[in-house]
Amino acid sequence: MGAPPQLTPEERALALAKAKQSRQQRAAVKARVKSGELSISDVISMSESDEALAKMRVLELVESVNGVGKVRAKTILERLNISLTRRLQGLGRHQLESLEKEFVPRTAMAPGKLVVLSGPGGVGKSTVAKELKKGSPFFVSISATTRAPRFNEVDGVDYHFYSNEEFDSAIARNEFLEWAEFAGNRYGTPRKAVEDSLRSGKSVLLEIEISGAKQVKAKVPESILVFLEPPTWEELVSRLEGRGTDSAERRAARLALAQEEMAAASFFDKVLINDRVEAVVSALIEFASA
Ligand code: 5GP
Repeated sequence: MGAPPQLTPEERALALAKAKQSRQQRAAVKARVKSGELSISDVISMSESDEALAKMRVLELVESVNGVGKVRAKTILERLNISLTRRLQGLGRHQLESLEKEFVPRTAMAPGKLVVLSGPGGVGKSTVAKELKKGSPFFVSISATTRAPRFNEVDGVDYHFYSNEEFDSAIARNEFLEWAEFAGNRYGTPRKAVEDSLRSGKSVLLEIEISGAKQVKAKVPESILVFLEPPTWEELVSRLEGRGTDSAERRAARLALAQEEMAAASFFDKVLINDRVEAVVSALIEFASA
C-alpha cells in the first residue's frame, strides 16, 4: 500500500466533515431500522446509490434490527458466512439474498408447512429424512430420545440423546411439540426449532411414529400427515429382521408393533409407498410447496 496522500489543512477539514456527515447519516438510518420504519432490504437498496450507506458494516446494520443485539447479530453473520468486518458494498449476490431472506418481515412471508412423515418402524422413514437433510426446502427436526445411541449415531445430529431425567424436565418445561413412548424408549420433538423454522417461512419435516403424528395433527390441524408404507409386508419383515443394530428381542417387539401400526394408514392425509427413496423425497417436497 502506498503512503496516504498529503492533505492540506483545508482538505483535511473537509474530509473530516464528510466522514462526520456519513456517520450521522448511518446513525439516522440505523435508528429508522430499529424503529421498524426501514427493513434490511430497504437499506440494501438505498446503499446502491449512497456511498455512506455502502460503507456501513453489515454487522452494525444487523445489530440495529429491533430485538437482535450484538450476540445474535454475530451468530447470524457467521451462519450466513458473512465476515464480521464486511461492509454492505462488499457483499456477494448470495450473501445479499440470504441476508434479505433472514429479515423478511414476518407478515410478508408465507409460513412454512409442517409435514409429518410416519409409518411402521422399519419402513425406511429415517432414510428418507436423511436424504432430505442433505439439502431440500425442509428443516428436518432432530428429535430427543432416551434410547441409547446406536454405534453409528451422533448426538445432536441423529438425535439429542437424553437421560430419563433430562426427558422428564423437558416435558415439565413444555419443550416438546409431541412425545411418545416407542418400544420401551421415549421420543419427543423439540418445539422451539420447529416453530422458529415455520415462522421464518421454512417448511419442517418431522420423522416420527404414529401416535406422535396424531398428537401433531391435534395441535396443528394444518399439518400434512404422510404415511409411508412398505412395498409389501414381507419387505418390512425382512428389513426388521435384518436390523443388525437391534437385539433379537427388540426386533421381535418392533415386528409386533409394526403390525399394529400398519392399520393406522387411514388416519393420514397422504399415503406413499416406499419403493424408491427419490420418489418419496420428491413427493414430500411437492406437498410442502403445494
Ligand atoms: P429409532 O429408535 O428406530 O430411531 O426410532 C423408533 C421410532 O421412533 C421410529 O418410528 C421413529 O420415527 C420414531 N421417532 C423418532 N423421533 C420421534 C419423535 O420425536 N417423536 C415420536 N413420537 N416418534 C419419534
